[in-house]
Amino acid sequence: MERYGIGVDLGGTKILAGVVELETGRVVSSAKKKTVGTPKDSKDNKDKDREKENELARRMGDAIDEAIMAANLPSSTKIVGIGIGAAGQVDRNEKVLVFAPNLGVKPNYPLGALLQERFKLPVALGNDVEAATLGELRFGAGVGCADFVCVFIGTGIGSGIVQNGQLRRGSTGTAGEIGHMVVSAEGRHCGCGGRGHLEAYSSRTAITRTLLGEMKRGRESVLTELLASEGTMPDATTASSVAIRSKVIARAIEANDELVKHVVREAAEILGLGLSSVINFYNPERLILGGGLMEAVDYLFEITVREAKFESLRLPGSQIEIMRTGLGDFSGLIGSALFNK
Ligand SMILES: [Zn+2]
Repeated sequence: MERYGIGVDLGGTKILAGVVELETGRVVSSAKKKTVGTPKDSKDNKDKDREKENELARRMGDAIDEAIMAANLPSSTKIVGIGIGAAGQVDRNEKVLVFAPNLGVKPNYPLGALLQERFKLPVALGNDVEAATLGELRFGAGVGCADFVCVFIGTGIGSGIVQNGQLRRGSTGTAGEIGHMVVSAEGRHCGCGGRGHLEAYSSRTAITRTLLGEMKRGRESVLTELLASEGTMPDATTASSVAIRSKVIARAIEANDELVKHVVREAAEILGLGLSSVINFYNPERLILGGGLMEAVDYLFEITVREAKFESLRLPGSQIEIMRTGLGDFSGLIGSALFNK
C-alpha cells in the first residue's frame, strides 16, 4: 500500500504545501499561501501580538489542509507525518525556527509544536536547501550520482552538498553556505555583515536591487512597462523583500532589453566564478542549479555554465556536468516530505 507524507516548502514569499507519495516522489496535490500577511484586526494589542505569533503556523496549517482536501485520498489512507523545509536556521531536535528573519517571526519560533498540536501528526523540521537537495537526490537531477552540489538562487544563495550519496551537513550543521563565499576582496556589503560575498552579486535580491537602482537613476528598460502592467512596481529601498518575478525578467530578456541583459550577465559571470571555485575545490560529478530565476531565464543559466567551466581547472572543468534541477519548484516540497520517511 502506498505511503503518503506532507511536505512544506516554507520560503520568504510563499508557503508551498503538498501531499507526496513517498515511494515515488509523486506530488498528489499542492496548495500555496503567502508567507507574510496582515493579521486579522483585533481590539487589544496583546491579542494582536498573539495572533501575529500564531499567524505563520496558521497559514501553514491552512495550506496543508487545502492540500489534503485536494488530494482526495481514501479515508483509510495513513499520512506518515509533516516535513518542513524552512528558509532559516532551524533546531532539528526541538523543531524550532531558531532564526528566520525572512519569515517574519521572532527567534525560537516553536513551529513544530504548533503544527503537531493542530494535526496530531509527527513533524520534522529542516532547512529549505537541505530539503530541496534531498528531493533532487532521491527523485530529481541527482538520481544515480553520489557526489554533487545543488545550488539555489533566491533571496540568498544556498547550496546542499551530497557526498557518497549522503547529505553532508558539516561539523556545525552549516555546510554549503556558498552565498557567503568571497568573490571580491572588500566588495559589496552582504546581509551577513561581511563583504564581497557571492549573494551580494548574484542572488535574486541583488539582481532586483541593481535593476531598480539603475532605473531610478534614469536607465531605460522595458521593465518599467512590464512591471506597471502587472501593477507591481517594487521600491529599490525595500528590494530585499520584493522580487521581480522570474517570468518578467525572462520576458525583458526576450525583448532584448539592454539593462536587464547587462545586469543578469554580470550576476551570471560572478556566479560562474564562485561555482568554478566549488568545482576546483570539491571536484563534484555534478552541479545542479535551481531557483525560480535559474529555471525561467535561459540566459542566466547558459552564461553561468559557460563561465563556471571556463574558469575551472582543466580536468575537473572538462568533466563536470552542470544542469538544472529535475523537480523544479517541487524539489523542496518533495524533499521535506521525505524527512519523515
Ligand atoms: Zn555574506
